[in-house]
Amino acid sequence: MVSESVPLIELLKETEGSLLILTHENPDGDALGSAMALYLFLRKKGKNVTIGCKDRVPHFLDFIPHCSEVVSLPDGKFYDLGIIVDSAGFYRAGADVKVGKRIRIDHHVGGEFYGMYDYIDPRAPATASLVYELIKCWDASSIDEEIATCIYAGLATDTGFFRYSNTTEYTFEVAKELVKYGASPHYVYRMFSERESVNKMKLISKVLDTLTLYEDGLVAGITIYDRFFKETGTDYADSEGLVNYPRSLEGVEVAFALIEKPDEGVWKVSLRSKVEADVSKIAERLGGGGHKYASGCKIKAKSYEDALETLLKEIKKQIELQKIGV
Ligand code: 5GP
Ligand code: MN
Repeated sequence: MVSESVPLIELLKETEGSLLILTHENPDGDALGSAMALYLFLRKKGKNVTIGCKDRVPHFLDFIPHCSEVVSLPDGKFYDLGIIVDSAGFYRAGADVKVGKRIRIDHHVGGEFYGMYDYIDPRAPATASLVYELIKCWDASSIDEEIATCIYAGLATDTGFFRYSNTTEYTFEVAKELVKYGASPHYVYRMFSERESVNKMKLISKVLDTLTLYEDGLVAGITIYDRFFKETGTDYADSEGLVNYPRSLEGVEVAFALIEKPDEGVWKVSLRSKVEADVSKIAERLGGGGHKYASGCKIKAKSYEDALETLLKEIKKQIELQKIGV
């Protein structure tokens, strides 16, 4: 993995112009952790670097060091070089950004390619581990507690705190090195998992009421209507992770969350699976992407019923193709 980051390192070393590090909309721990680690490192290297995102930093990530420095996109500025992290392409920024050269650092299967400077490895447990390899290869001595915390946060959250299938010996090796550099597993866990609001609990309660099983219990879904956010004083960012409830049911192989986004006129879909089902195929057929066990897309539909029907049809197709439950 180390050598694959060399062309990008060489390019960044030579770059004297402006740099924009950006994440996908509605950033998760891996997106923001990776982007912030790279931003803090490049700043240490004296680069003219900005970190940007379409959405504001959600409460569950506001412990990420320096997160108040994230610029709201689009900011109307031009940057010589743009690096998008943890995203299948610049379209995932959800904002119109003006950059000269485009580069991607990511661990998703497929997606857009911008050329030889892209640093993409679907074997990586998280984008954060790719950023770690890049920084380590360039100058390990500059990894401080803040940078280690950002990378650790990305690695921990994308592996479900070292429980998902992307948790390997390598994952623990990286985690161990990050702890040596000053990251605190307990601190990151507490910040990420033990700061929920009462309002969020009220949202969870409403959402669990929508839980429905399909395909003889192989599929489970929840619906998050926009009015739920209004009724409980929460917002879209509070929907993060709720899809894990249907996935946690015994016998369920494919879980989904349908989240209403009236501002965009779409239903955002989060898909999860357990062992066999490849939900990235379902998301891809609906214009999205992701990983085998976690993927997402957006469905434009006239009604909730239409969106649900479209989604269930593709889930059923995948279950039949893979002969799941047979
Ligand atoms: P989540 O369900 O947590 O939003 O996303 C799960 C995975 O699917 C993440 O790796 C995320 O990047 C990817 N993903 C979610 N939504 C989309 C989308 O609209 N397009 C693509 N290409 N990937 C998505
Ligand atoms: Mn990721």
